[in-house]
Amino acid sequence: MDACYDLIVIGGGSGGVATARRAAEYGARVALIERERLGGTCVNLGCVPKKIMWYASETASSLEHAAEFGFSVAPHAFDWTTLKTRRDAFVARLNEIHSTNLERSGIDLYRGHGRLVGGNAVAVGEQQLRGTNILLAPGARPRRPQIRGAEHGIDSDGFFQLEQLPRRVAVVGAGYIALELAGVLHHLGADTTLVVRHDGPLRTFDPLLREALLEALAVSGPRLQTGFTSAACEPDPSGNGLCLVSANKERLSGFDTVIWAIGRDPATDDLGLARAGVDCRPDGTIPVDAYQTTSVPHIFAVGDAISPDHQLTPVAIAAGRRLADRLFGGADKRHLEYRDIPTVVFSHPPLGTVGLTEPEAVAHYGADAVRCYQTRFAPMRYALAPAEHKIRSAMKLVTVGAEEKIVGIHLCGDGADEMLQGFAVALRMGATKRDFDETVAIHPTSAEELVTLR
Ligand SMILES: Cc1cc2nc3c(=O)[nH]c(=O)nc-3n(C[C@H](O)[C@H](O)[C@H](O)COP(=O)(O)OP(=O)(O)OC[C@H]3O[C@@H](n4cnc5c(N)ncnc54)[C@H](O)[C@@H]3O)c2cc1C
Repeated sequence: MDACYDLIVIGGGSGGVATARRAAEYGARVALIERERLGGTCVNLGCVPKKIMWYASETASSLEHAAEFGFSVAPHAFDWTTLKTRRDAFVARLNEIHSTNLERSGIDLYRGHGRLVGGNAVAVGEQQLRGTNILLAPGARPRRPQIRGAEHGIDSDGFFQLEQLPRRVAVVGAGYIALELAGVLHHLGADTTLVVRHDGPLRTFDPLLREALLEALAVSGPRLQTGFTSAACEPDPSGNGLCLVSANKERLSGFDTVIWAIGRDPATDDLGLARAGVDCRPDGTIPVDAYQTTSVPHIFAVGDAISPDHQLTPVAIAAGRRLADRLFGGADKRHLEYRDIPTVVFSHPPLGTVGLTEPEAVAHYGADAVRCYQTRFAPMRYALAPAEHKIRSAMKLVTVGAEEKIVGIHLCGDGADEMLQGFAVALRMGATKRDFDETVAIHPTSAEELVTLR
């Protein structure tokens, strides 16, 4: 007989695990199906190993500045294999912790590929499960370009498998993953080129952050190749590694590694959606309503598979936990509002942003209603550095109306990653510029600039 559950979750990543565990806390009988490693993209091929690599690259950059503070440090003492081995061991520990947590929560874990085979039925291998509710949380996978020779390149998954630091690498893409990987590789010592189609990375970010980022890249970052649409990737005819060829036949050559970081596609192609009557958009994403409900009332979806917007771990987790609260915790109207979601890019220096950019605010409220406050400054970290090594921070508050309600906060600079979370709470609570002005500064910090803007 088929095993029966209150909730069957397909996908043991950020959204799936969080939903399953919250549902189990309410006493629901839960099954979770995972075909690869527990923890999904974030734990295995995303946030966690990426942040470790970022810490390593930040350490490298601190060592570069060490002499300014009187230290002498041996050059070229970095060992990629040690870093990778220790990073992978940490990730393996997290996999185990996930497994233990599921067991402790009383969740039945099924290993294999899950597929809808009817309204309430899910197949995993030879087994068939029945669920009163089903959650689809299959995440997304890296997109490969449809160009000649794309197979010569690797993607972000391949980046985490690299056994040695590439010597000369091209990272193709303009989103946050491309920028982060390029920054890590550059600061760890690879000769790195970030290849973008238009005039720079992060095109949807506030113009001030983009300006600050371009300036930082010029001071201490990977080489930026703009206006280059890759049309082919091929071995260089002169035997000089790999070569990227643009649509108008320009060539960038001499790479031993090419990394495609051009976006992520939902992993929904083999989920049995049509068989269960679940609608799917042409790009493979699963449309859901405000309550994460798909076109079938008892089948829900969260995370990267529902939209290319907000592909972030805490978003998948928040949507999933609220769904479990609603289905099993009696919180009838609980759902995630997909607005004012803070996000950080772990570049060098990091960027943090929440709410509307200045152009978005102007488009929404009209130019007359919008007033922005902004600053550029060299943080004290660079007090003893030569002028040409200083990386300037940038901060902007976007306010609207006579009361100057803050609707956007945009930061670029050392510490922006840790600074933003608290300020995002203030924005969500409806803080005004006056509230910021009335808050006493913490000195000497970069954060104090946000409460002293004029
Ligand atoms: C390089 C990189 C860096 C990132 N950095 C950050 C960051 O700093 N901060 C941040 O918030 N986000 C970051 N992200 C994004 C974050 O990882 C994702 O938004 C998040 O993991 C999405 O969660 P999810 O539950 O939707 O999917 P996932 O975490 O991808 O989990 C989906 C799981 O479902 C499994 N699965 C899929 N189909 C099936 C099936 N049919 N049967 C069984 N199992 C299946 C997969 O194996 C996977 O384990 C990063 C992503 C990448 C690639």
